[in-house]
Amino acid sequence: MGTGPVAGVDYPATYQQLLKWFPDDDSCVEYLARLRWPDGFVCPACDGGQFWRTGRGLWMCRSCSRGTSVTAGTIFHRTRTPLSTWFAAIWFVTSQKNGVSALGLQRVLGFGSYQTAWAWLHKLRRAMVRPDRDRIGGPGTVVELDETLIGGVSGGTMGGYADKVPVMIAVELDPSATSGSRTRAGRPSRRQVRLGRVRMQVAQRPNTVDLLVFAQAVIEPGTTIRTDGATILKRLPDHGFKHEPTNGYAATDPATVLPGVHLVASLLKRWFIGTLHYRVEVQQLPYYLDEYTFRFNRRGAKSRGLLFYRLLQQAVGTDPNPLHQLLKPHEQQAESSNWC
Ligand SMILES: [Zn+2]
Repeated sequence: MGTGPVAGVDYPATYQQLLKWFPDDDSCVEYLARLRWPDGFVCPACDGGQFWRTGRGLWMCRSCSRGTSVTAGTIFHRTRTPLSTWFAAIWFVTSQKNGVSALGLQRVLGFGSYQTAWAWLHKLRRAMVRPDRDRIGGPGTVVELDETLIGGVSGGTMGGYADKVPVMIAVELDPSATSGSRTRAGRPSRRQVRLGRVRMQVAQRPNTVDLLVFAQAVIEPGTTIRTDGATILKRLPDHGFKHEPTNGYAATDPATVLPGVHLVASLLKRWFIGTLHYRVEVQQLPYYLDEYTFRFNRRGAKSRGLLFYRLLQQAVGTDPNPLHQLLKPHEQQAESSNWC
């Protein structure tokens, strides 16, 4: 750390500062340009660095004459809403410890429709996962890996097994983590759990090879992976991991077997209920997991403004894949299925 971005210098420290820094579109465009081209403008067509500016926020390349908009290919592309409103929305979403629901965003920004707020939140969620993010763990570290079933509550009653979606969770157990887990008074069994970063992904079916594929995708080889006794996981050593299976079925309290994933899973479920009020669409679940992951992995940030900065940074990232995803023509309508 130490040389990271600084509150009040690289990003606003308070909402008042946000309003002062970004009164109009021009100030937002300049800020986005700074994030997108930290070492100066680079033409995406020819890598040229010489440019001139038009009045419409375009960077014109002197070598190839191509015009580049700082918002092209981002969630802000061709938005009809002022960028300063987007910035306020991002501030609101990132500055709340648990984020906001579409209804909450609608209220605070004074949107006419719930659907607009809902679509905005989904666009922001798509910017919440870094495409190049590191794998967690590493030799000498321990990662817990397990699945939890999400959903299945409908009309206040538990639904059938088929309604539930298996979510795979990998979380670092990090005795040296600076942030630690947010422990609460009265939960002594969780107090000693100190967690690092988390990764989550929806599985097609529970307890299948999906778990192995997930582990390979998100966990560094050489990591010690602690799991329950599922048979499929005995193959983890074939993929370069150290494996510590525990027999969860024999334990009296399953929470003590894999306390890290258990804590993450219960916080995730609480987030769905407490902040999102069950309004989670099953086909959008991966994006909700992205938001949760974004927030969880930055829970120790000294300033909430840092999350604002990181999200904007990711939103103007230049990797074509996530940007392509962001440009899907129209969000689906907000179907609140009461699924979760
Ligand atoms: Zn060029």
